[in-house]
Amino acid sequence: MKFGTKVIRAGITPDETTGAVMTPIYQTSTYHQVVPGEHKGFEYSRTQNPTRKVLEDNLAALEEGKHGLCFASGMAAIDCVLRLLKPGDEVVSTNDLYGGSYRIFTKVYQQYGIKFHFVDLSDASNLKAVVNEKTKMVWVETPTNPLLNIIDIKAICDAVAKDVLVCVDNTFATPYLQQPLVLGADVVVHSVTKYLSGHSDVVMGAIVVNDTALRDQLAFYQNACGAVPGPMDSFLVLRGIKTLHLRMDRHCKNAEQVAHFLESHPKVAKVFYPGLKLSKGYAVAFKQMKNFGGMVSFSLKDDSTGAAVNVLKRFKLFTLAESLGGVESLCGHPASMTHASIPREERLKTGVLDSLIRLSVGVEDIEDLLADLKTALS
Ligand code: PLP
Repeated sequence: MKFGTKVIRAGITPDETTGAVMTPIYQTSTYHQVVPGEHKGFEYSRTQNPTRKVLEDNLAALEEGKHGLCFASGMAAIDCVLRLLKPGDEVVSTNDLYGGSYRIFTKVYQQYGIKFHFVDLSDASNLKAVVNEKTKMVWVETPTNPLLNIIDIKAICDAVAKDVLVCVDNTFATPYLQQPLVLGADVVVHSVTKYLSGHSDVVMGAIVVNDTALRDQLAFYQNACGAVPGPMDSFLVLRGIKTLHLRMDRHCKNAEQVAHFLESHPKVAKVFYPGLKLSKGYAVAFKQMKNFGGMVSFSLKDDSTGAAVNVLKRFKLFTLAESLGGVESLCGHPASMTHASIPREERLKTGVLDSLIRLSVGVEDIEDLLADLKTALS
């Protein structure tokens, strides 16, 4: 099946008992057993739920993986992956990443004796200086949040030993634009909250892997720790995913036009969008992605929080809000919102400037979006 068929069909069959074409919402916590242990594959909804199972199978198919696991949030999915680590283990992570990932690494897992190295992975050769026999995991986010840097997934996978798990946060690209497992990664994680759900009405996370032993280990933590999504949310995401390919095409088209508009605006210092031919990540993005995504960031010539706030206040269509990937356009100020958990000195070192504004370009008519940008920057 091709991608546009998979989003609608993979793992989804009419309900066996009723023939319902749409996956039913199995709003049940428990399941009948004929005698203890004899049941239809479902015992308790923390462990398995039929609506969630259909979504997990669908996500696995979209990522070209064998196994999917869904969680109550993207952070719960990331937390589950990190539970694979033991005290003394080391992780190499990209230095430009979602603030919440940085926070769980440094404020939660570091205290259990796990060491994190933050490195610019847009050059895979930077791995050499930090990888050692204690390295168990490489954490890649590409495109990165919020600077839209691009990391060459295949080059990273080729640069590390087979027993080092390469984990890719594929939230920004989605499997429509990029499939990390095909490029050699071991684990894909998602904040399903974003493009996969697509309508800003669900918080959810997911993991997709190929290796069955790894799946079993992760499923053990999923059940033992219990951060699972409910059946209603699983249904909403299944519904959202059916239009993923259509939405992504429009997000990419609109974002490209927004990036070009910003590039020529006199108040804008720099535009961050991997689809700009002069951007650092263009060549790798062109190679590993189907298109360049719906996220655009830009900094102002007046590099101050005040200048950014003045722009943000004047938007009428771009809604000032956390999150991204919904059909509606959003704007945000990473320094004080999504990346506030990163100390200012660290943040500035990676280029997340005080005036940086991040746009999640929605699927509205582009003329209205450009008019809104023009007013906000006036
Ligand atoms: N990964 C990325 C790239 C994100 O942008 C986010 C949230 O913004 C997360 C993970 C965390 O996901 P959630 O908010 O669903 O817990």
